[in-house]
Amino acid sequence: MTTETGRAAGLDLGWRVREDGLRVGYLTDDSGHRYELLLPFVFGNSNARRRERYERERGFTPWDTTDWRALAELQAAEDALIEDCKARLALVEEADRVGWPEATRRRFTILQKVRSAGLRRAFRELSEAGVTGDTVQILTEWQGKADVMRKRIRVAQLKSADKRRDSYRKLADWLSRNFDQLVWEGDFNLKGLAEAPGGDYARKNSRRYRFVASLHTLRLYIEQSFAKRGRALVNCGAAYSSRVCPQCGCRIEPSPGLLVECENGHRGDQDALTSRLLLSTLGVQAGGAETPAAIPRDLERCVRVVERNSW
Ligand SMILES: [Zn+2]
Repeated sequence: MTTETGRAAGLDLGWRVREDGLRVGYLTDDSGHRYELLLPFVFGNSNARRRERYERERGFTPWDTTDWRALAELQAAEDALIEDCKARLALVEEADRVGWPEATRRRFTILQKVRSAGLRRAFRELSEAGVTGDTVQILTEWQGKADVMRKRIRVAQLKSADKRRDSYRKLADWLSRNFDQLVWEGDFNLKGLAEAPGGDYARKNSRRYRFVASLHTLRLYIEQSFAKRGRALVNCGAAYSSRVCPQCGCRIEPSPGLLVECENGHRGDQDALTSRLLLSTLGVQAGGAETPAAIPRDLERCVRVVERNSW
């Protein structure tokens, strides 16, 4: 039987790009302590991290497969190959299309819309029809490079997913060990909003980082861990429908940014606000433990105690 901790917390799951990793969750406990849950960009021991920093500072792109940003860069490079291929295809003369199958003609009607799979099919169709020429040449070159890139991405994905699983298991275990009750959004859909010091970069990469965050994995591990210890995981409905300022009670408009502001100018981290609102639905009395939950050494980079800000 698991000993009660006397602690309850509200957990807001959602990802944001931060300086050293992805914020994947924000936790407020019933003593008012706040914790940021992170998936660090760089995995590995301190030596590996030092080397990574050294390379980055000198302008090298560290192709270290244990860095999530390197994976995002590989995927961006893969997209750039497709764009480059299409730009070259757009310059090919109409005369090159002699003898093309009808399917390929249709496929290339709007070149902008063609993706990787479309290029591959076109290459196959033209090859099978015995067509040669500039288009086939361009597609051959693209496919060679794309295949190499695909393999590198696959290897990087597998290695990184392994590290992520490890971090998420530890995070889930820490949560169920330290909190008797955890309230979160029962109907979970990815918010997919990001803000980083590098603004634009974060938005351009938002789609990629959604896969990096893989929040359904974290959710699953938390569910399993709470079931194992017999702790209470409470599903909360519409936490967002009642987004009011904790200081003055006026309405707070939704915004994709990290900080939100009420009509009277009270500002704060919106994930902190959401986790606080979630916690309030439990109706627990504040004032349990005085100190924040202890963070074990191997989780130091994944859980950060946050100083109290305006709310
Ligand atoms: Zn206010």
